[in-house]
Amino acid sequence: MLKPFSKRNKKIIDGVVKNKNIANGYLFSGVSGSFILGAAQYFSMSVNCLNFNEGPCGVCAVCLAFQKGVFADYVVVNPGEGQGKSDSITVDQIRNIQEIVKYGANTPGRMFVVINNSHKLTKQASNAFLKTLEEPAERVSFILLTRNLMDVMPTIKSRCQSMYYPCATKDEMIAYIKKHYKDNEFNEIVERAVGSKELLGRFLETSKIVGVNYISFKDLLNSSKIDRLIFVEKLAKDKNEAQMLLMIWIDELMQAYGDLDWQVINNIELLIENVVQMKYNVNLRLHLESLMLNLV
Ligand SMILES: [Zn+2]
Repeated sequence: MLKPFSKRNKKIIDGVVKNKNIANGYLFSGVSGSFILGAAQYFSMSVNCLNFNEGPCGVCAVCLAFQKGVFADYVVVNPGEGQGKSDSITVDQIRNIQEIVKYGANTPGRMFVVINNSHKLTKQASNAFLKTLEEPAERVSFILLTRNLMDVMPTIKSRCQSMYYPCATKDEMIAYIKKHYKDNEFNEIVERAVGSKELLGRFLETSKIVGVNYISFKDLLNSSKIDRLIFVEKLAKDKNEAQMLLMIWIDELMQAYGDLDWQVINNIELLIENVVQMKYNVNLRLHLESLMLNLV
């Protein structure tokens, strides 16, 4: 079952599928909690479903294969799956894709290649990928996903049909969790997410929840320096959790402010810088203490 993504976009996709007007390249962008990967899956499944009618039927051979994750013409590429330890999408990965799409779809339908975090294409990989977009194989489409539209190369953007996905609403996420988790799990998830849309979105994307250590960025800014330092003591116990909370704050800042003033930009930059530094061996507690005192 797919996670809740934009109803408006679902309608647009349904229209495209009905008219059989499928482009070669799509670019889906959205913040955390917009569930663009699910949207890409919905699109691919709808195009290939044998009885499509206001959505994929859910019972034909194609739909069943999709649900089991074994449909032959649906490929998801993630950064860091190439050789080496890079977290980029490398030119080798693009060459692999080119091999896969060379002969077109395996089934009578259409092959979809989804490139997750496509802002992480290296420059070399982007250039190699451009050629693939320019000379499409028969019955093959690409869906590029990104949470960072600004970092996707303009030449790639211009060759794709772009669709922006807003964050799902809290009610949609709660309804999804209610349907897919046992009662006791549901209660725990909702309780630990302390009513935050960001936390629920993050949970549905990663199956992890920041939990009792969560406070919103707004509440953090309103707290005293002493309270912040007390908070650091709890937060510094788990590096992954701390890192995730910083990412959530970045999202919160990006979403909450239409016009980014210098103070907001400054905070976002500080948070990003700290998330990056946390990848290395740092004294987490000292590190967080200095961050908390510098956020204004
Ligand atoms: Zn079907």
